[in-house]
Amino acid sequence: MVDAMLVRARELDAADPLGEYRARFQLPEGVIYLDGNSLGALPKATPARLEQVIRGEWGEGLIRSWNGADWIGSARRVGGKIAPLIGAQPHEVVAADSTSVNLFKLIAAALDMRPGRKVILSEPGNFPTDLYMIAGLERQGLATRRLAGREHLLEALDGDVALLLLTHVHYKTGEVFDMAALTRAAHQAGALVLWDLSHSGGALPVDLNACGADFAVGCGYKYLNGGPGAPAYAFAAERHHGALHQPLTGWFGHAAPFAFADDYAPAPGIDRLQCGTSPILGLAALEVGVDLIAEIGAQRLYAKSQALSEFFLECLAVNGISLTAHPEPVEGRAQNGLTSFDKLRTSGRVELVSPADPAQRGSQLSFRHAQAYAICQALIARGVIGDFRDPDILRLGFAPAYLRFEDMAEAARHLAEVLESGEWQREEFMQRAAVT
Ligand SMILES: *Cc1c(COP(=O)(O)O)cnc(C)c1O
Repeated sequence: MVDAMLVRARELDAADPLGEYRARFQLPEGVIYLDGNSLGALPKATPARLEQVIRGEWGEGLIRSWNGADWIGSARRVGGKIAPLIGAQPHEVVAADSTSVNLFKLIAAALDMRPGRKVILSEPGNFPTDLYMIAGLERQGLATRRLAGREHLLEALDGDVALLLLTHVHYKTGEVFDMAALTRAAHQAGALVLWDLSHSGGALPVDLNACGADFAVGCGYKYLNGGPGAPAYAFAAERHHGALHQPLTGWFGHAAPFAFADDYAPAPGIDRLQCGTSPILGLAALEVGVDLIAEIGAQRLYAKSQALSEFFLECLAVNGISLTAHPEPVEGRAQNGLTSFDKLRTSGRVELVSPADPAQRGSQLSFRHAQAYAICQALIARGVIGDFRDPDILRLGFAPAYLRFEDMAEAARHLAEVLESGEWQREEFMQRAAVT
């Protein structure tokens, strides 16, 4: 049976229209990489491009490269290439700073645009930095943080809410919000909306403008393969460009940075979301990743991602990990904002906490197990790299650009073997590392 899945996997790989793209990434021998949702793999073209930017543009071109190699335009250029992946116009996106910093700029800008309202509404269990960035503004007396679970978001959207801030695909469970419906509800309440697309951009199609979204941010080092600490991106709908004022008024957001005027005047368009000098090496690496992902396109990536995760679940079943409905909600879920997830679990071993319907989840599957950390370590020792999310989640990401169906069959077999053998109980797998 297990071998039959491997045979089927190889047939699916042979027929996969994205199969050729795996060769465009460097992937270590003997590794099944299920963590591309945390740090995307290295495109093979990146080192040569960086070499060219470092030796040629920096080494030879020196300061002349700001114009000669268009360093000055690179934040806008890379943003423009990200735009089609998220349903934006090219002049509505800029690649700059980190996701955290872009959150700060846009939360503050939204507060400025809704005088008399101070509440930033989000959900408990949202990605920590999103919640922490609100807390920073709260301390300054500028904002009031309000958290409401998924079922209570609509009733929490009252006349005090300046901004609804949500992560489109939940980092831990993979559950997807209905972007169009929530954006509409926020607008009806007079609030603006900021979507965090860190687990969406490059994995599934997003249509910010069709949904009427106001603002968005997203990560460059996950599904966009920009490298560790790659610049992030920020989106502001064109209709807001004139009225948008963000507080990090550095000279690169100025209408005329090289006029060296004493007084700040924001650039007319999306450039007002820039702050200081762009990290040119980081942007160069990000651009290679974005070019590659944009070449494949969001629709094809999404189709492959769904096929991969569905096949993985099938392989789990064949390996004896049958997924059955779990009657009661698991304790602690409400507190984590996870109340609406499908009540599914395997025969007492692992519980699927991601939605069972592939249309309701991003490009990942998350499983709950009291010993998720040790299981994750045991898998890594076998070359299957996923990650652990506190306190009890084993998270497996399916980056559609470079994973094979064969990887799904093999990873499922390894997970079954780890659970069955109890090898995760070894002392070395229990020791927590600093970064999980
Ligand atoms: C990964 C991630 C971030 C990362 O923020 P940084 O500023 O790059 O550290 C932010 N939000 C979400 C939802 C993420 O998944």
